[in-house]
Amino acid sequence: MDKDKDNDKNDIDVIDKKDDSDKKSDIDKKDNDVTDNKESGKVDGGRNVKYEDICYLCHRPESKAGKIIKLPSNINICTDCMQNTFNHINSSGMNLFMDIPNMENIQNMYRNKQTIKKKEKPKEEKAEDSKKKEVPELTMKTLPAPHIIKAGLDEYVVGQEKAKKVLSVAVYNHYKRVLSNSDEDGVKIEKSNILMLGPTGSGKTHMVKTLADMLQVPLAITDATALTEAGYIGDDVESVISKLLAAAENDVEKAEHGIVFIDEIDKIAKKKNAHSRDVSGESVQQGLLKLLEGGDVEVPVGASSKNAMVPLCTVNTSNILFICGGAFPDITKIIAKRIKSTGSIGFGAKIGVKPDEDKDILEKVTTEDIREYGMIPEFLGRLPIICSLGALTEEMLVRVLVEPKNAIIKQYKKLLRLDEVELGFQDDALNLIAQKAVEKKIGARALRAILEEYMLDIMYEIPKDEMIGRVTITREYIEGKGGPNIELRGNC
Ligand code: ADP
Repeated sequence: MDKDKDNDKNDIDVIDKKDDSDKKSDIDKKDNDVTDNKESGKVDGGRNVKYEDICYLCHRPESKAGKIIKLPSNINICTDCMQNTFNHINSSGMNLFMDIPNMENIQNMYRNKQTIKKKEKPKEEKAEDSKKKEVPELTMKTLPAPHIIKAGLDEYVVGQEKAKKVLSVAVYNHYKRVLSNSDEDGVKIEKSNILMLGPTGSGKTHMVKTLADMLQVPLAITDATALTEAGYIGDDVESVISKLLAAAENDVEKAEHGIVFIDEIDKIAKKKNAHSRDVSGESVQQGLLKLLEGGDVEVPVGASSKNAMVPLCTVNTSNILFICGGAFPDITKIIAKRIKSTGSIGFGAKIGVKPDEDKDILEKVTTEDIREYGMIPEFLGRLPIICSLGALTEEMLVRVLVEPKNAIIKQYKKLLRLDEVELGFQDDALNLIAQKAVEKKIGARALRAILEEYMLDIMYEIPKDEMIGRVTITREYIEGKGGPNIELRGNC
């Protein structure tokens, strides 16, 4: 009996326990339902379940934005937006207690902040950054051989074959010397800076720019006319190194392997019969000697002139390649006079061509001629490689218009292609443009100005009419006697 009783009691216990666990699981289930609904914000059986708190500014729910701070008037703000607001108040100098901004202002601030953040690093910039990093650093292995450097120059520079060859070899040897850095056998390779002579617009600067781009080394281009002896009004010679440092993003090591191009070097020739101190001529040449030779120079970081507020850093110029360029007008007369006086026919002299009439006479230039022009011997001694460029002929100017990788006409074609319009030039038209450029006597520099004049109307009018499919620039248009040929879409 007792046993039966015990069994009955056990049964009751079991039922009770089952009831308890059912109740508990029911409660748990309800709880779960409530949390589910709380998160999703659903309506449960017509009864509104509590929603998640949402940030008033960025509209993110608590589950995403993290802790939400409750302000009076039922305004909730996430900690990020609160921090941004305080940062903005601090940076704009607002007095937190006096200028309490209204909510609209804060919302605008938040939006501005987001757009500023986006503007700070657009995607294309990021892509460009990574592209820049991909370029291999210049090492003995990555240093291109002279024929490859020349081939790279060929893509951008028309003609000037000899100059391209001389420059390719000189640059290759320079970087071999810099990168190998070995003088175990006692043989020290000397620094070889370069002097380029050639009329304006013949491609001196263009060639150096192409080289620096190809080798991915920093380049500073400066004008010798702006330089004066230290202490006089104008830039000290050290300013050229400051420019290089800026081009190297203030990375001293990078700057020490860079290239400095000093243009208009002929303008610092020694003045003949000068009665006063020659502060922008011979003195500048003297000042440049140390830089060209190689030595430590103290330059201001992030500024062009030294002053007490700017920190200085030391740059060693031993491995910087200096290229000086100049037109040296009238040096041809000096060359012709020398050739006539010595009566030398010389190696490679053109038989039957008088020195005065020889168009390639600049190729025969010697250090003595340049010295007579007014450059001091110490200065020339530090520029052992001399290369000369010839004036561009009409036929070469036509090639400059169309052949280089970034030729001006290719650029115009690309611009119009974006409007789905094909641009063409008649050969005659190109010849006439080149002829006009020759008349201006500023070499290839004239081409852009001339083209710009004729292309302005085309670039203005064509996008107006969507039916236009092709435009051909004719000789008549350049002569001012007619218009360009215009073909409509479907007909071309
Ligand atoms: P400079 O000899 O006076 O330094 P630049 O190199 O500045 O002349 O030439 C001016 C522009 O003319 C360059 O930007 C380049 O586009 C063009 N140019 C000059 N010479 C050549 C050339 N040989 N081949 C291709 N383009 C040239």
